[in-house]
Amino acid sequence: MNLDQLKQQFISQLSKVETEKDLALLEIEFLGRKGKLTEVLKSLAGLSLVEKKRMGQAANESKEFMEREIKSQKSKIKIKEYEKIAVEEKIDINAPVETNGRSSLRKGHLHPLSNFIFKIERIFEEMGYEVVDGPEIETDYYNFTAVRIPEDSPSRDDHDTFYIKTIKQESKKTKKQEEELLLRTQTTAMQVRYMEKHQPPIKIIVPGKTYRRDDDASHSPMFHQFEALVVDKGITLGKLKKTLSVAMKKLLGEDTNIRFRSSYFPFVEPALEVDVTCAICKGKGCNICKNTGWVELLGAGMVHPEVLKTSGIDPEIYSGFAFAMGIDRLCMMHHKIPNIKMLFENDIRFLEQF
Ligand SMILES: [Zn+2]
Repeated sequence: MNLDQLKQQFISQLSKVETEKDLALLEIEFLGRKGKLTEVLKSLAGLSLVEKKRMGQAANESKEFMEREIKSQKSKIKIKEYEKIAVEEKIDINAPVETNGRSSLRKGHLHPLSNFIFKIERIFEEMGYEVVDGPEIETDYYNFTAVRIPEDSPSRDDHDTFYIKTIKQESKKTKKQEEELLLRTQTTAMQVRYMEKHQPPIKIIVPGKTYRRDDDASHSPMFHQFEALVVDKGITLGKLKKTLSVAMKKLLGEDTNIRFRSSYFPFVEPALEVDVTCAICKGKGCNICKNTGWVELLGAGMVHPEVLKTSGIDPEIYSGFAFAMGIDRLCMMHHKIPNIKMLFENDIRFLEQF
């Protein structure tokens, strides 16, 4: 057998090889120490030196050719094996990953409540307000006493909340031997805390979680409020009205109007309920606004001089206004959500509608 014949035989056999094992056997058959190539080389023994050299070179080329072909065939076999496994296990290696029928490559989005909070923050930041955080676990003092809701006040009845524990240490503020801790019932708790540490001009909003014991379709034991507090020289009720008018138009739409009704909150004087044009019917009347065209949205008023004094701010020089609004109710009204619980159940079927 000469080299050409050997090469033809190799090509013919290689084309029939389908497994790595058979390929290894083929390699030994042709290129092994006692293989066919060695046999051909041995038969060259009787040739002249020049012939030997020529044939030697040709044999080397054949050897390199066979090695290359074997390597290439090896990777072809591997790819075929992967494809076979993929078909057997029904894997489409190019398909996007799916979990429970939903592609995990889908992007999520912000919770409708978070969206509202960020929107409120943006609007007030544009108006020069600073966004401030306060503690959700608050002392009885800052939540009630400091904002003129003393222990025996009937106003506390509306604020039934969750008490954490009583610390047995003398309160620096009340001089009592024990200090009670509770989950804050209102972001108003942050007013005195902030004013104790900052002198006017003060212009802040405090968005955050608040807690009360209420629990029905429109009340959740945990809900969101935001508080606004402005203290400076010459702050008037007129400035409060202008601020709310501008802010509510930005938040709820240009066709939103506000109206004041007199009310009572212990920490402001005078106190006001603020109604806004119903966002659902735009003031025409619907079942959400009980056909009045107005929705009660927030409480407001001029900061009580006693609260300023408690915080170390002279009410003879400075005045201020404050207002607080429930964010959840606003969000429910805006999206026509019938039950507040739906906001907190984390049901993806509900949340992905927003
Ligand atoms: Zn309405």
